[in-house]
Amino acid sequence: MAVSAPFSFLKNRKHNLDRMTLGDLVYSFFTYYAVVAYITVGVISLALAVKWFENPLRMLLAMLAASVVFPFGWYLVHKHILHSRFLYKSPLTASTWKRIHFDHHQDPHDLRVLFGALANVLPTVAGVIAPIGYLIGGKAGAAAALGWAMVITCFYEFCHCIQHLNYTPKSRFLKDIKRLHLSHHFHNEQGNYGITNYFWDRLFGTLYEKSGDRPKSPTVFNLGYTAEEAQRYPWVDRLSGGTRGDGHPRRFWDNAGTPGSTPQAPAEPVTRQEG
Ligand SMILES: [Zn+2]
Ligand SMILES: [Zn+2]
Ligand SMILES: [Zn+2]
Repeated sequence: MAVSAPFSFLKNRKHNLDRMTLGDLVYSFFTYYAVVAYITVGVISLALAVKWFENPLRMLLAMLAASVVFPFGWYLVHKHILHSRFLYKSPLTASTWKRIHFDHHQDPHDLRVLFGALANVLPTVAGVIAPIGYLIGGKAGAAAALGWAMVITCFYEFCHCIQHLNYTPKSRFLKDIKRLHLSHHFHNEQGNYGITNYFWDRLFGTLYEKSGDRPKSPTVFNLGYTAEEAQRYPWVDRLSGGTRGDGHPRRFWDNAGTPGSTPQAPAEPVTRQEG
C-alpha cells in the first residue's frame, strides 16, 4: 500500500492499534502525512482569514456553518455512500471503496486504513466548505471556514483513532462516542454513523445506545460484500488477495506490512471483548 511506505511505524507491528499506547498513537497521528497536510492547509487558511479579515460576524458564521455542515456531510457520506452496495459492483470504484471503508470494517485495528485518504477527504471537505464560507463571508469567510474545517477534520481523525485504540478514555464524551462507534463496527453497522457527533443519527433514527437495541448484524465486518457478492463482483476480493472475511477481523494481524497475503491464525489469544 503506497501510503504506508514512508513511515517506519507503519512497517512494524505497531500499525495494529490493539498494540499501541496513547503515546505511540499521538506520535503516529501527528507524523501521518494526511494529518500534516490538514494542519498545513488549516494554518494557511487561517492565516489568509486574518490577512483578508473584514466582517468578523460573517467569518464567525462561516465557521459555525462549517461546524454544522461537516458532521452532516460525514453522516450522509458514511451512510449513503460508504455503506451503500454500489461501489464494489464496478471495477472503477472497487479499489476506492475497499480502501476508504471496506478494509476499515474488515480490520478496524489497522492504522493503515484507519484514516480517510487525503486525496478523497481534502477535495471533498474543501469543495463543500469553502463555497459555503464564501457565500457567507466572501474570501475571508471561505478561508475561515476552510481553516476551521481542517481543525474539525483533525479532531475527527484523532477521536476515530482513540475509538480504535486499545485504551479506555477518561473523558465522558470520548467514552460515549467510543462505545457508539465500536457498536457500529462490532454489533450493527447500519446505525451510529457519526464519529464525534451523533446528532444526525438521533434526528434520522439511526442512533442506538445499547447493543440490545438492535439485532447483531451478520454483515458488520463485510458490509454486505458476502462470499456470494464476491463471486458476482470479484474486484474487491481480488484486491484483497482472497482474505475477505465475515467473522471477527484478524486478517492483517500476522502478516504485518503485507495485507493481501495468506491469512494466518492470530499470534495471541483474544483477551478483549468489543462492542
Ligand atoms: Zn472506525
Ligand atoms: Zn462504517
Ligand atoms: Zn477486536
